[in-house]
Amino acid sequence: MNFAQRTHFCGDLRLTHKETQITLNGWVHRDRDLGGVRFIDLRDRTGLVQLVIDPSSEAGKAELRSETCVSVTGMVRERSEDVKNPKMATGEIEVVVSAIEVLGVAKPTPFPLSDESQMETVDEQLRVKYRYIDLRRPIMYKRMAMRAFLVAGLRRYLDDRGFLELETPIITKSTPEGARDYLVAYRLQPGQWYALPQSPQQYKQLLMVAGMERYYQIAKCFRDESQRADRQPEFTQLDVEMSFVTQEDILQLAEGLIRTVLNATIEKFDLDKDPIEPFERLRYDDAVRLYGNDKPDLRFGLPLFDLTEALKGTEFGVFKAVIGSGGSVRGVRYPGGAQLSRKEVGELEEFAKSWGAKGLATLQVQSGPAEGEVKVSQSGLWLKGSFAKFLSQAEIEAILKDSAAEAGDLLCFAADTYANTNNVLSRLRLEIGQRLGLRDPRKLKLCWVIDFPLVEWDEDSKTWSPSHHPFTAPKAEDLQYIDSDPGRIRADCYDMVCNGSELASGSIRIHRSDVQAKIFHLLGIDEKTQKERFGHMLEAFSYGAPPHGGLAPGIDRMVMLLSDTENIREVIAFPKMGNGYDPMMEAPSPIDPAQWKELGLTPPPPREA
Ligand code: ASP
Repeated sequence: MNFAQRTHFCGDLRLTHKETQITLNGWVHRDRDLGGVRFIDLRDRTGLVQLVIDPSSEAGKAELRSETCVSVTGMVRERSEDVKNPKMATGEIEVVVSAIEVLGVAKPTPFPLSDESQMETVDEQLRVKYRYIDLRRPIMYKRMAMRAFLVAGLRRYLDDRGFLELETPIITKSTPEGARDYLVAYRLQPGQWYALPQSPQQYKQLLMVAGMERYYQIAKCFRDESQRADRQPEFTQLDVEMSFVTQEDILQLAEGLIRTVLNATIEKFDLDKDPIEPFERLRYDDAVRLYGNDKPDLRFGLPLFDLTEALKGTEFGVFKAVIGSGGSVRGVRYPGGAQLSRKEVGELEEFAKSWGAKGLATLQVQSGPAEGEVKVSQSGLWLKGSFAKFLSQAEIEAILKDSAAEAGDLLCFAADTYANTNNVLSRLRLEIGQRLGLRDPRKLKLCWVIDFPLVEWDEDSKTWSPSHHPFTAPKAEDLQYIDSDPGRIRADCYDMVCNGSELASGSIRIHRSDVQAKIFHLLGIDEKTQKERFGHMLEAFSYGAPPHGGLAPGIDRMVMLLSDTENIREVIAFPKMGNGYDPMMEAPSPIDPAQWKELGLTPPPPREA
């Protein structure tokens, strides 16, 4: 039982260990037989070290296929100068092996681990099927270690501030967060179903009614929604709730928490990232006006500009028609874009169209006269573009001023409804930022978006739906619009945004039954349904509920940002594929006829092939 006497970890060995007798455990990363000597790179979770074995010795006879699990004993020695490897942390030494014990024989692996560059070509489903092998890769270990360090940091920060970590049920009743529920049938009550929580929202609020005052949980949330690369059917968030707090208290606590923990992780793992600065704050309306959506990437400027007012008398037919029917003409500046060829501008237009634009009007800003349609401004800049000839002098001046145009820019315009111009221009802005290298991976630029609308009109169902969830508190001064103009009500609701993606959502909650009933009513939830689905909340709020609020930062999201990946599966030990399938466990999977029966359910007819 050599392995129980492990003395060191592979990646820690240095010249200072010279002449030390050691025992290591790990996996055979690479095995090279160079005639007279056999070299093995041994790997454990800390890194690699080179072993040297005499092939004629007892140890040298062992068959050691890659990924075989072994325990070795040997002596550390300094490598001769000509074979020192400065690229390897342990490159100054090697271990001369005296004994080797095979602990676990390995079959040929489904993909090679010794050459990281080859991993890009490996099918991701194969990696997930053999996740226990994939996770042996140093980059995967680092992500898991970062995740664990981050979670430990979150716990420590909150524990130090008097929060209680409490668990809430997983098999429970539906709690809405805008997705479909995963349902669990119950054998003892056929026909009755549990739902997996989309979040612990209701329980955490009930914990506030219960006087816990400060709660958190590393919570699994389950949401059946359309899959995207940044989503999983189950994901983890840090769920937080506090009593007797204002929005400001929560923003300050959360900002301190996230900055402290992310900065500590950046330092610990020596990540190539700048320390995180204090968060900016943006009102929802301003975020949408300036950046086209409520999750702006603030690593760069290039705000959108609005020319609807300035162009309302325009002779340019397309703009005239849109403005005449209540739409907007808005744009974004592409610094240096005047250089783009006609083909490249065409590609930009295709990009805009792929996000729903009907077209993309452009103007080149130049410092001197050019061929083609040009118009000159008072400031000496020239505008060139197919619709330049329709512009009056006043319109030219307005365009240049509002866009803050400079020579060499390409001005891109979208004309449509306000919402559609935002959708297109926000994507275009990111694309331009990307092309110009302004989305610097070293920067994590966090901000708060505040003052969200309480509800949004859903054209399909012709109902108001919550921007966040139905428990969010309206701003007291806006409650007066509940009957006349609900779209005007703002909420005490906030999102934490980083580099263009949402990192957390939260709000001050409603803590009065009458207000909660009013909001349910606004959301089209009648009294009977209110009682059935949320009766316990209304009831609880009638027993002295404290004012409370909270938020829930996504843990997977944070690790993704630190790992520079947009694929959430890369930061989860055992993820599901895009279609919800777990190829390792082969889940979901059929159940036995007896189980169908026990549950009082009839299996669906077999699917046609
Ligand atoms: N329950 C919310 C969510 O999952 C977070 C919160 O409001 O605290 O997004």
